[in-house]
Order: sequence, then structure tokens, then C-alpha cells
Amino acid sequence: MLRTCLTDFLALFFPQACLACQDSLVAGEQHLCTTCRAELPYTNYHLLPAAQNPLSRRFWGKLPVEHTLSYLRFLRHGQVQHLLHQLKYQGQQELGKALGQLYGAELAEAGLSPAFDLVVPVPLHRRKLARRGYNQADAFAEGLAATLPCPWSAATLRRTEHTTSQTRKSRAERWHNVATVFEVAHPLEVAGRHVLLVDDVLTTGATLEACGAVLLAAGARQLSIATIACAE
Ligand SMILES: [Zn+2]
Repeated sequence: MLRTCLTDFLALFFPQACLACQDSLVAGEQHLCTTCRAELPYTNYHLLPAAQNPLSRRFWGKLPVEHTLSYLRFLRHGQVQHLLHQLKYQGQQELGKALGQLYGAELAEAGLSPAFDLVVPVPLHRRKLARRGYNQADAFAEGLAATLPCPWSAATLRRTEHTTSQTRKSRAERWHNVATVFEVAHPLEVAGRHVLLVDDVLTTGATLEACGAVLLAAGARQLSIATIACAE
């Protein structure tokens, strides 16, 4: 109670802004204002049968993926791009956790949570991790794991080489760029398990494909994928 009063009191003088639209947050709102919470472009793909989920096609013929899930639609210059930028470059790892909690609760409500045994985030190279201070995929994984609920592990996958930026590369170049840089550090953790592999954004899927391939090679029974956002 005292803590709530103090938070409200401080908010009078230092109002926090919504990370999507920059309006001031009011009491009871965290990270996102009520309007943005209601109006964000949710995919709701978890409510569709797998065959009708347009994201499933991204991995057809490449990787057997059970559920391909993404919370939001990524539109360039839109609110979701702004949110991801805050998460990645503005130190807002709490936002990643909050989005993970919200999405995990929705997946659980849709009856998906018993399917998953372990949540595994796509790792950053340790140099990039040191520079940024946190891995945005870890934050999302932690949030998801809290409300699914399900164990998660940031130590399962390891990035062995430093890749160059993916943004200006073709699909084939991206695949080549990431294909050999991931390994499973603890194969026993994934053996016989249904692993939910998570990242911040799904674009070509090359990074997720490379991670998924090593998880299956290490003995994972099934693989599913969840991201905060997906580019159409
Ligand atoms: Zn807002």
C-alpha cells in the first residue's frame, strides 16, 4: 500500500511515458497505456489452426516447427517498431519481460502452455551482450516463462562466432551468415523436450532456423517458435 502511494506520488512529478505512443502513463499503467494495450496490432495466430497460420509457411521444407507464434505485427515506422527499438537500444528490458508475461498469459488461456517443456532464447554474442548489458530475447523468454508457466534457460544455446549485421543481406547470405554460429551448450537440457525457441522479431527466419536445427540435432523432441513481432 505504502509502496503504491509512493509510486503514484513520484508519478505526479516524474510521469512515465507509454513506450509505444509517448503519452504519460496514469496510475495502474505500466510500460504501455491502456489505449495502446487495446490497439496494438496483435496477430492472434495462436487462435488459428496450425495449417491456417501464415507464419508456419516460413519454415515449411526447412524445419519441422510445431507452433509458429508471434505476438504483434511489425510495421516499419509503426508503434511496434518503436517498442522494439526501446527494448533493444534504450535499456527497456523490463518491456520485453512485460510483453512476454502478457503473451504467455494469452497462450496459456488458449491451452497451449502444457505443450512446452523449456523456453530457450536466441543468444547474443558475448561481446554484443557486454555492450548492450542484456539480451532482449532473454527478457521476453523470462516473461513468457513466468506466465505460461514453464522453465527457461539462457544457457542452453551458445553463439560461437560474431556475425556481421543481417540487415543488408539477402536470405541466402543471412542463412550462410548464421548457419554455423550456434551450438547447444547443454544437450541434456533439451533431449526429449518440446522446446519453445524465442527471439524479438521474426523476419526471414534464418537465425531461428539455425538455432532450431541445432536444438533438434541435440535431441529436442519438438520445436516451436515465438517472437514479440513478425514482419509480414
Ligand atoms: Zn500508448
